[in-house]
Amino acid sequence: MSVSLRAARYVHPNGREALQSVSLEVARGERVAIIGPSGAGKSTLLNLMATALRPQAGSIELLGEPAWQLSRRALRQLRARIGLMPQSPPLPGRQRVVTAILAGRLGRWPWWKSLLSLLYPADIAGARATLDALGLPDYLFTHCDRLSGGQLQRVGLARLLYQQPALVLADEPVSSLDPGLTELAMRVLHECSPADATMVVSLHAVDVALRWFPRIVGIRDGLVAFDLPAAEVTGPVLAELYASEAGAVPRQLG
Ligand code: ADP
Ligand code: MG
Repeated sequence: MSVSLRAARYVHPNGREALQSVSLEVARGERVAIIGPSGAGKSTLLNLMATALRPQAGSIELLGEPAWQLSRRALRQLRARIGLMPQSPPLPGRQRVVTAILAGRLGRWPWWKSLLSLLYPADIAGARATLDALGLPDYLFTHCDRLSGGQLQRVGLARLLYQQPALVLADEPVSSLDPGLTELAMRVLHECSPADATMVVSLHAVDVALRWFPRIVGIRDGLVAFDLPAAEVTGPVLAELYASEAGAVPRQLG
């Protein structure tokens, strides 16, 4: 299993219980979409899978490793094989796009190469290829604070893909993109991830989730509401998932 969560619980420092008890297994090479209303716990779940947050109860194995029982060195090596595109990618405004993308591989490089790349961006061709695929060919040396929300989102995606992680995690990666760019970004995400990568992607747009992912996990109130093949995610199933989010279902289905 690439992801194995058993009864994982996460309470934020302010006391908010974001995940009550989540059990979820994702096999190597599987591609799963996470959907659910705002505040359901999607981002918290992805952060758990990225080891950015540590569950207070339950267990979590990632890429076959018991993440929180590893030595610091082994945990660092595991993290280099996991890529998370956060909901708002933390891209420093003064950083150039090329540096932001290359940072995706910092965890895998020896320290001297990482340091050097901050001064002299290595592998510019690799960064350019990833950006080209996402429709941003001319932005390699632009500063991040000159980019629109949709452009920043694609830089975040380019950074994730450049890392070539075994476990690809993306938190609402297309929320700022129009329909055409959404399709482009989803195609690039699928085609440019390693062929055997495991993918877990949270999506606000249900139609995008159903079109691009064979397995759909619905999250609500910090619990798994359903875990179904896309073909079985019908109108009533969605209506129940989004019951309190007025209007969400008719809009998505219409
Ligand atoms: P989603 O991504 O599905 O919208 P989140 O995982 O972001 O849901 O949030 C789940 C719950 O945890 C929400 O009630 C949210 O307010 C709360 N929450 C999320 N992040 C934090 C945080 N950093 N500190 C405190 N509470 C948080
Ligand atoms: Mg979220």
